[in-house]
Amino acid sequence: MGKDGFTKIDKNNLLRLPNGDHVIGIVFHWTASRYSQFFYDYQFCVDFDGSIWQNNNADPGDTLSHTWHRNTGRVGIACSSMYNATSDNYGDYPWTKKQMEAMCALAAKIVIKYKIKFPDEVNTHAFWAREDGYFGERWDFDIETPMIKNKVAWYIKQLELLNKKKGI
Ligand SMILES: [Zn+2]
Repeated sequence: MGKDGFTKIDKNNLLRLPNGDHVIGIVFHWTASRYSQFFYDYQFCVDFDGSIWQNNNADPGDTLSHTWHRNTGRVGIACSSMYNATSDNYGDYPWTKKQMEAMCALAAKIVIKYKIKFPDEVNTHAFWAREDGYFGERWDFDIETPMIKNKVAWYIKQLELLNKKKGI
């Protein structure tokens, strides 16, 4: 599978965040695939180059199957990476710095748009896997969790400053 069914978000294709969507949280994933392979289980996929792609067939408030028992109201954002990765060796397709920045910047926009509880409701799949007893099977961004929360916090702050300037 490639990028079928996803649209690149940029000046020409603005982020689709409909008003009235019921969104309570965000879950970060990796696809456990090679780069540039996207899957319909996520609202957003981020490629190795930091480009953000939105699922054409799912709004942020739609329920997809990305996080066992935790999908309702939670947006799935996945970095296309980590094929054959283990915790000791991230393999030939490790997540990239560009992906990490893009994912956290995107999350900040979604947090502000839907007034998501931060940091409580911005989590990694590893967090939910530990919570729900299947860690080991799913360990997406386990050791990266504190760094991700810090980055999202930084991006939220930037957006808030920007909005203040604009008087929003
Ligand atoms: Zn996952």
